[in-house]
Amino acid sequence: MASASPLIDRHGRTISYLRISVTDRCDLRCRYCMAEQMTFLPRERLLSLEEIALIAERFIARGTSKIRLSGGEPLVRRDIIDLARRLGRHLGDGGLDELTMTTNGVRLGEHAEALADAGMRRVNVSLDSRDPEVFRHITRHGQIETVLGGIAAAKAAGLAVKINMVALKGLNAHEIADMLAWCADEALDLTLIETMPMGSVDEDRADRFLPLTHILDDLLGRFDLRRDAHRSGGPARYWRLAGTDTRLGLISPLTANFCDGCNRVRLTTEGRLYLCLGHDDQVDLKAAIRDGGLPAVDAAIDAALAIKPRRHDFRIAEGSAPAVARHMSVTGG
Ligand code: SAM
Ligand code: SF4
Repeated sequence: MASASPLIDRHGRTISYLRISVTDRCDLRCRYCMAEQMTFLPRERLLSLEEIALIAERFIARGTSKIRLSGGEPLVRRDIIDLARRLGRHLGDGGLDELTMTTNGVRLGEHAEALADAGMRRVNVSLDSRDPEVFRHITRHGQIETVLGGIAAAKAAGLAVKINMVALKGLNAHEIADMLAWCADEALDLTLIETMPMGSVDEDRADRFLPLTHILDDLLGRFDLRRDAHRSGGPARYWRLAGTDTRLGLISPLTANFCDGCNRVRLTTEGRLYLCLGHDDQVDLKAAIRDGGLPAVDAAIDAALAIKPRRHDFRIAEGSAPAVARHMSVTGG
């Protein structure tokens, strides 16, 4: 094997978290994420399940302790449960501390138990509104009952659920306090996210951008929120809702930069390893694995660590182009 050295980037940050976008396709079309008409990758360009697993296993061998399956919608990929089972074998003594998923919840009712059987303990479910009409509007055609059923199935299977909610001016801003109260009742965590300028959508994101600093002031006035020291090594800052198990997270890339502690890289379904959400730097692990096998994958990972950017540079202004042309669904958030 070319290298089994730990993953440390050129800025001295240890990379311990791999996100894998297993498909760029989705059964919803959230307005801030995708355009209504999207062109997806032809299937012959995708990594096979075996290739994804082999690449992920190189990361695990080199110290990656957390893997998140995402997309697009990960549960629309046909062999997703096989992949979860394969990676789940590395949990515990196999080097992996956590295998998790971000999903829109539409197919969670069908798959929650299999995911729990594979060793998953937590999932993130996107839910931008609990109002059926607003939910349908944001997702363009989603049915909220299906997602609520998916969340219930996940809980019944023993999975802890965190709700992801993108804060959107004029769409769901008025629902944020209610969402937090509901999460407390349902024993769910909640993470609020600022909309990020990634990929063209049919609307100007500036019209919907809501700085979380404003939201936080409002929530602090309504709830007994205590700052929580919890760090996921990720972008969120956390608060604990007193008297409950609910943790509130804020991901505010536009108003509070979080890149100094960045511990993650992202593999696309086409085999490209992206080093930062806000930049195009990437290496081609599909070419590496197909042309040179695992030693070439290791060498490409090393080359990637040498070019990982220091920070993103997201800005949202009226009429401005996205910071990067690719959509969030390409790299899985
Ligand atoms: N389909 C799954 C879902 O919706 O949870 C997983 C993929 S989705 C790209 C991952 C997360 O990214 C979701 O919570 C979604 O709301 C968020 N997201 C997508 N586009 C975004 C954007 N432009 N800015 C901020 N968050 C975004
Ligand atoms: Fe699909 Fe998730 Fe993007 Fe919504 S946020 S369109 S569910 S990938």
